Amino acid sequence: MSSVLEEPVGLLDPRPLAEADPAVAGAIDRELLRQRTGLELIASENFVSRAVLEATGCVMTNKYAEGYPGRRYYGGCEHVDEVERLARERALELFGGDHANVQPHSGSQANMAALQALAEPGDTLLGMDLSNGGHLTHGSPVNFSGRMYSVIPYGVRESDRLLDYDQVRELALSKRPKVIIAGASAYPGEIDFERFGEIARESGAKLMVDMAHIAGLVATGVHPSPVPHADIVTTTTHKTLRGPRGGLVICREEHAKAVDKAVFPGLQGGPLMHVIAAKAVALKEALAPDFRAYAKRVVRNARALADRLQELGYDLVGGGTDTHLILVDLRTTELTGKDAEALLGQAEITVNKNTVPRETRSPFVASGIRLGTAAVSTRGMGETEMRRIADLMHGALDSGGDEAVLKGLADEVRALCRAFPLYPEVGETP
Ligand SMILES: *Cc1c(COP(=O)(O)O)cnc(C)c1O
Repeated sequence: MSSVLEEPVGLLDPRPLAEADPAVAGAIDRELLRQRTGLELIASENFVSRAVLEATGCVMTNKYAEGYPGRRYYGGCEHVDEVERLARERALELFGGDHANVQPHSGSQANMAALQALAEPGDTLLGMDLSNGGHLTHGSPVNFSGRMYSVIPYGVRESDRLLDYDQVRELALSKRPKVIIAGASAYPGEIDFERFGEIARESGAKLMVDMAHIAGLVATGVHPSPVPHADIVTTTTHKTLRGPRGGLVICREEHAKAVDKAVFPGLQGGPLMHVIAAKAVALKEALAPDFRAYAKRVVRNARALADRLQELGYDLVGGGTDTHLILVDLRTTELTGKDAEALLGQAEITVNKNTVPRETRSPFVASGIRLGTAAVSTRGMGETEMRRIADLMHGALDSGGDEAVLKGLADEVRALCRAFPLYPEVGETP
């Protein structure tokens, strides 16, 4: 019997997504429209370039590459080795440091790897409390970090709601943690990593810095770098750094082996080589002079947005911002964070509700909202637009839920967004 006569089965469908799977393609189209027409003020989000998008959707998704360049557990790795080497070299050129691991699938996994490299289960960690601005992976009881380690939280001062370095030092000297974690998810001020480094040395702790939010600012010198002061620095690649979703670790030579072992085989199997390709592209973009101009604009825009919100009477945690991030404490208004997120959403302004220092509500309701200017700055908006956005936000927050008012604001938001087209090269701009 000849196989020539058999019908070929199971071959790859050559049709484009829109034809092959209209349900998924439709949702993706609607998401593109949402990103284009609304104001994205979520502090942890950004828009990647066309080149980063293209790399994220490339054939390297097909490749298994457990191990590291030059020493893999699979054949055929010569081309993925090239992109992983490029990504590592570019990460070190951008941030400094001795060694980079670009394989963590996310920021959380980068943190898990760093902790696994520096501590044993049961060891003591000093990390920033979640409701004071820390991240889940810095010791929250609902996270692996809080379950595996003995955690001592630190926070912000009551007076100005800025980091209390004296408290960090006192806790470090009295509790002698194995690791001090610096870095935050909802903290608008500059972080003094040099001071954290001194406290770590004085108390005999290792210093791990999680710069997930501010990596793009650090890359360009717009925020001081933690790299000279920390044993291990972790980050996401998708926030101010403007790359694909993922994680990255930079460390001193003495921790290189432990970090690599922690990522693979400690925590992950095959790396996402398509995402690593996209990380390499994003890191090249971040090395270009233009990216520094972008990072400066992000911070200038955050200041302009913060200033106008304060003029309108809003209470900003920490008194303003030194970064891309603003935390509005709504306890001076009648609104909860949840209410505010919903009202702004009706005006097509996307933010997230957030707990504030000395929070009394549940995280699902919360008393604040967190804002960031990374995404709107990527669209090309400047300080004039930031003041306008503050006014639009105030209109929504002050609307009492009036549908007509909110609809009018949504129309204004769409008009503003049309003037700063997103992905104009992809299809038609609405
Ligand atoms: C966003 C963030 C992370 C986690 O990143 P994921 O990719 O969502 O896992 C870790 N640490 C900090 C400080 C963050 O802000």
